[in-house]
Amino acid sequence: MTSRSLNDLIYDTLASVPWQTKLQPTLPMEEVHVVLHEPAILGGYRVPHKPWKYYFFSLFQLHNETVNVWSHIIGCVVILYKLYHFFDEFDLGRDHVLTTLLLFGISCLIGLGTSAAVHLLHAKSPYIHFVAFMVDYIGATFCSFGSGIAALYGYSKAETYDSIKDFYAPLVFISSYLNFLNLCLAKIWYGHDPHNLNRKYMFIFGMGIQAFINMAPWIPRFVDCFHDNTCSFSSLNHISIIPFVFVLEAVAFAAHQPEKTFPGKCDIVGQGHQLFHVLIVLNHVFQLDAIYIDHKNNLTGHSEPDFWFYLIMMIVLYVIEAASLCIIARLVPASIKKAEEADEEKRK
Ligand SMILES: [Zn+2]
Repeated sequence: MTSRSLNDLIYDTLASVPWQTKLQPTLPMEEVHVVLHEPAILGGYRVPHKPWKYYFFSLFQLHNETVNVWSHIIGCVVILYKLYHFFDEFDLGRDHVLTTLLLFGISCLIGLGTSAAVHLLHAKSPYIHFVAFMVDYIGATFCSFGSGIAALYGYSKAETYDSIKDFYAPLVFISSYLNFLNLCLAKIWYGHDPHNLNRKYMFIFGMGIQAFINMAPWIPRFVDCFHDNTCSFSSLNHISIIPFVFVLEAVAFAAHQPEKTFPGKCDIVGQGHQLFHVLIVLNHVFQLDAIYIDHKNNLTGHSEPDFWFYLIMMIVLYVIEAASLCIIARLVPASIKKAEEADEEKRK
């Protein structure tokens, strides 16, 4: 065989491999629409306006969202693994703790699954990018609702549980929905500028209030421990870790480090948002463990969550948020136009 025909054979063989299995080229920041820019991420952007299958198959490609997608897919596997073991140990009809674990586990799976899908698909166009990230807020606030239910039934003391159980679930429901609107409006008003701090403040303010409401059921345990000389705060470490990780999440989300210090060096691996994703998964695991530990210590025998009631509440929350998103999405074209005008102004 001549070297010419060998070259042709190699070329033909490589050309016949389906495109999905080959590493696809990515674009530098300057070649994608301004609303798709991420702070200090200079490359690794997928090509916009391709068919949907390009974005679905980008799950197996290397680009600046690969780690964000996989971190939450792996997170779903971890949650499923933990739920599997809880089902092995408890009986749904007899052990109320399994209802609490299951409700919170479902909210985690929906939140993580939504986030993975959003990071996988949002690069198709500026409009899809805006709408996709508002879908992500449905997942995030849905998960916050699950955290509130976990806090009430999973690790509140009997007196607190008795005094708040009648109004707490509607309170978390309303605050989750209002926070969803807050996150969407922050995206619509300031989403055209990835460096805008007002958007970050609105995010952190909304999520902070939500987190405070979610903490309300177990704060009295810390107050009791403070007044009790025989109580050590270390006995509450399995709960203290939850707000601690939440604060780390907020810092990782807002700081965009280390990529701001090393622009262009963290385009594929090492972005602050990737760390934020890992911390979210860790926090879910710590919350499941806190429910389990307090059950094992016989502290939550008073909890009797109604699985079907809360499942319907979760479905209603998701549907209402999705319906609101359909209305808010009408504001997206104006927001994209604002982004284009601001970008043109900057280039002058
Ligand atoms: Zn994310």
